[in-house]
Amino acid sequence: MFSKILIANRGEIACRVIKTARRMGILTVAVYSDADVDALHVTMADEAVYLGPSPSRDSYLVADKVIAAAKRTGAQAIHPGYGFLSENAEFCRLCADNDITFIGPPVDAIEAMGSKSAAKSIMEKAQVPLVPGYHGDAQDEAILKQAADDMGYPVLLKATAGGGGKGMRQVWQAGQFSEELAAAKREALNGFGDDTMLVEKYLTQPRHVEIQVFCDNHGNAVYLFERDCSVQRRHQKVIEEAPAPGMSETLRAEMGQAAIKAAQAIGYCGAGTVEFLLDVDPSTGRSAFYFMEMNTRLQVEHPVTEYITKQDLVEWQLRVAANETLPKTQAQLSIHGHAFEARIYAEDANNDFLPATGTLNFLQAPTESEHVRVDTGVLQGDEVSVYYDPMIAKLVVWDENRDKALQRLAKALSEYRISGVTTNIDFLYNLATCPAFVEADLDTGFIEKHHEQIFHNGPVQDNQALADNLVMAALYLVLAKANTANKKALLSSDSNSPWHQANHWRANEANKQSLSLRPELGNSDDTFDIEVEHLNNRDGDAATQAYAISINNGTVIKCQGSLNSDQLLTTINGYRSEASVHINKTSTDDVITLYRQNGAFNFTQLTPDLGDSDSQTDNGGLIAPMNGTVVSVLVEAGTEVEAEQALMIMEAMKMEHTIRAPHAGTVESVFYQTGDMVDGGAELLSFNVNEQE
Ligand code: ADP
Repeated sequence: MFSKILIANRGEIACRVIKTARRMGILTVAVYSDADVDALHVTMADEAVYLGPSPSRDSYLVADKVIAAAKRTGAQAIHPGYGFLSENAEFCRLCADNDITFIGPPVDAIEAMGSKSAAKSIMEKAQVPLVPGYHGDAQDEAILKQAADDMGYPVLLKATAGGGGKGMRQVWQAGQFSEELAAAKREALNGFGDDTMLVEKYLTQPRHVEIQVFCDNHGNAVYLFERDCSVQRRHQKVIEEAPAPGMSETLRAEMGQAAIKAAQAIGYCGAGTVEFLLDVDPSTGRSAFYFMEMNTRLQVEHPVTEYITKQDLVEWQLRVAANETLPKTQAQLSIHGHAFEARIYAEDANNDFLPATGTLNFLQAPTESEHVRVDTGVLQGDEVSVYYDPMIAKLVVWDENRDKALQRLAKALSEYRISGVTTNIDFLYNLATCPAFVEADLDTGFIEKHHEQIFHNGPVQDNQALADNLVMAALYLVLAKANTANKKALLSSDSNSPWHQANHWRANEANKQSLSLRPELGNSDDTFDIEVEHLNNRDGDAATQAYAISINNGTVIKCQGSLNSDQLLTTINGYRSEASVHINKTSTDDVITLYRQNGAFNFTQLTPDLGDSDSQTDNGGLIAPMNGTVVSVLVEAGTEVEAEQALMIMEAMKMEHTIRAPHAGTVESVFYQTGDMVDGGAELLSFNVNEQE
């Protein structure tokens, strides 16, 4: 076995490979670009080598630099992850020339599968069933069109060098052929520098079912069952699961054998995935599967297979690359339970899945357990930059059957909390809880077909839920304000101050307060005027306060609430629920997020009038951007400060954050000391802004 390997990748997959290597006692070398100097994969690895500027073409894709990094550190093998250089035959060759083991298949296998057309010809010879189509060399438009006319419309045009859904166009009738071909060729030329096309029968409601295969250098080959990846957006996977629902043992074995045949036809070695479309044969009414392509690397969605087979596929890759035999035979492999993977992306599902960038101001993943696994490469405070794939994490869940696993997926999604960057978490939650998904009525058009059920703004479209969210938001603001006032008072030197009373009496809280809240509701900018009346309940539970709240002068809602750091507990008309709260401070507004079981509710407070005329927060109070520890307090009460002067330094998730004065002024009070733990959203210090400012 190797004693040191280099991982020629970044993000979650680099971290994931490091974990297995470490468990096996293998040292790891990370590589990084400018954007990734402080990235998790770099801190996790034993050593790290700088490659170059942030764009991947200047760093992660420069084969020579990666090889030089391996030589410099004495790494004996390179794990390419997925993407980047993982299916690059030239890189594979370069490794061999430098006596470095490429943890992947032989170069010939990569080359054979590099072109979709060539791959199909090989599979045809090996008698692996193909989607009917044309994959010949002749590329005249007339020949391609004749092939399409012969097989009948709709057809799918695909770039033979394609990937990632690019260079792929549907043609629904003969009249559109010419135009679509030109468009597909343009896209292919731009994307891959090669506009060779193949034409396939377009299957209108297939499922994407792929088989995980593994081969070693000693003639052994096994399949580790299937994954259903039918739920796709723009022909790219969103949620994957294993095993595929409704698979008969016969079909599973047939597809597994076909996949092994495909792998053996190209002398395969290592981890590979054979992708099939699964459809109903109209002539027989039986399931039929067709080879689509083979991916000669570890797939993004490999964790679902790991869960159901209880195997570590990266360990298998390392063993095979070190010339060992496969860890298990086919007879020793079996399926345990059911697993799902949801890809958490920084993207706007409501805006055509546009990738999003920004800082992950708040990041709280569900707790990992035997049922929940989170593969990620980012920490709170990290940037999602424009340079790389916007995947934040893979949320993987397991249970003994599909229903239970799906319930775990929905719960884990509702517990995934991210602020600062737009994510697809609400979309994934809607998808995972949509009745057709629960019923496993899957095909590759799933998202379009169930558009209405999936693209809704969660509970806020329903008036009742909106009212509950607004009441919770109002309770939060009132309670947070009262907590801050009490904390401030407790720090005062006057021990006779009424603030020192340990009862529930709230400082600075007027009996009636008005708030104006603007929830984020899709396209609507509606604001809501909210009246909050504090009902005297001095005899009740000290932590819980009672209020009467009305929205836009409507019916009065009786409610109670308590706030313990960022945990809000409310009872609204007898409905008791919890939320955790995060404040995302931007240069213009503070966006407040209530994370509830059924999703996140974002709102902005427009006129902060809480009956406290000398509100420190408005004047220049400073709020902790996240949970963390105070590492240094640079000022004291009375210190005069300039705008932008550093006041306090906090540390969160191994990153330091400097709290700076937003204006010139005088520090009034400092609420925390060095070493204190602080909750995100807590007021750290207050100061008075200079008059002339
Ligand atoms: P890429 O390599 O660009 O990702 P693939 O060939 O793997 O492209 O196909 C991606 C997806 O496109 C498949 O999962 C499937 O949803 C759809 N697709 C591909 N070929 C066909 C086809 N012949 N009929 C219907 N859908 C197809």
